[in-house]
Amino acid sequence: MNLSLVIPIYNEQDNLPLLFDAIYQVMNTLPQSWEAVLVDDGSRDNSLSILQAYAEKDAEHVRVVSFRRNFGQTAAIAAGIDYSQGDIIILLDADLQNDPADIPMLLAKLDEGYDLVSGWRKDRKDNAVTRNLPSMLANKLISYVTGVHLHDYGCTLKAYRRDVLEGFRLYGEMHRFIPVYANSVGARITEMPVRHHPRKYGKTKYGLERTAKVLLDLFTVKFLVSYSSKPIYLFGGAGGLLMIISAIILAYLFVRRVFFFVAVSTSPLFQTSAMFFILGFQSILMGLIAELLVRTYHESQRKPTYTVRNLINIHKDSRG
Ligand code: UDP
Ligand code: MG
Repeated sequence: MNLSLVIPIYNEQDNLPLLFDAIYQVMNTLPQSWEAVLVDDGSRDNSLSILQAYAEKDAEHVRVVSFRRNFGQTAAIAAGIDYSQGDIIILLDADLQNDPADIPMLLAKLDEGYDLVSGWRKDRKDNAVTRNLPSMLANKLISYVTGVHLHDYGCTLKAYRRDVLEGFRLYGEMHRFIPVYANSVGARITEMPVRHHPRKYGKTKYGLERTAKVLLDLFTVKFLVSYSSKPIYLFGGAGGLLMIISAIILAYLFVRRVFFFVAVSTSPLFQTSAMFFILGFQSILMGLIAELLVRTYHESQRKPTYTVRNLINIHKDSRG
């Protein structure tokens, strides 16, 4: 199997026939073997029965995973990836806002030697105020914080080599952060403009509140990617900083007392200093606990703390 399309679906009954038409139209022109893994995320309309009908007609290409209830787009994408078999995975939305006709272009880009090609909805057809503006700001912030500069994290249409997807799980709204994880395991990443269409049928499942979730996820992702194998650097750094501030305040009080005869108890500075000291010390201790957790995590699963692109003259299973 060369190529897997992974498609999350929640209440998209009117879009599905058009989606299948569009998929067949491009996939029939491609030489690769392919499958479409469609994940029904607990739809309440007829999406599932429509999917079943297509799966019966074309068992070679159409695979369906159906959830017991709505778990959200990220979970649907995670399941689709788990149950897919292709070496290359292309994610796209079911509502035809992404255009399957862009798939060959993404594949051509992967062939240039990239591991991940990110779609960029350069001419996005969503609500400007509630969607496009917050999304633009979020993209700038995510790019700045993570150092992975992409214009459009939120665009589902992206192509991935399977190896860069392995080794991490998707939670929350995290599918959009796959490029950040991929970058942390050394993937070669690029982006290219893709088409975007307004939604014809059904309505969007999201509003402004998603931006808040995305920002919270950004904290987790940044922490996991930058510090998950060395948490003491973060906790210890913060703790050390607090203790230094504490020491400076104390020194100031000391100088004031000894040379200017001002009683220490005239201001709350002494209490502040003590508080900073305790917080700083606690933070360093938390860092040590986090270090223990990291060791349990890596060692219980024999998870290496590095990723290998390939081995020369070394057998794959020979790692001690
Ligand atoms: N989706 C899903 N589960 C959900 C919400 C959405 O599987 O709980 C699917 C939805 O059917 C669509 C894709 O995720 O295929 C993107 O959703 P939507 O079009 O609502 O998002 P937008 O394009 O407005 O960001
Ligand atoms: Mg959409």
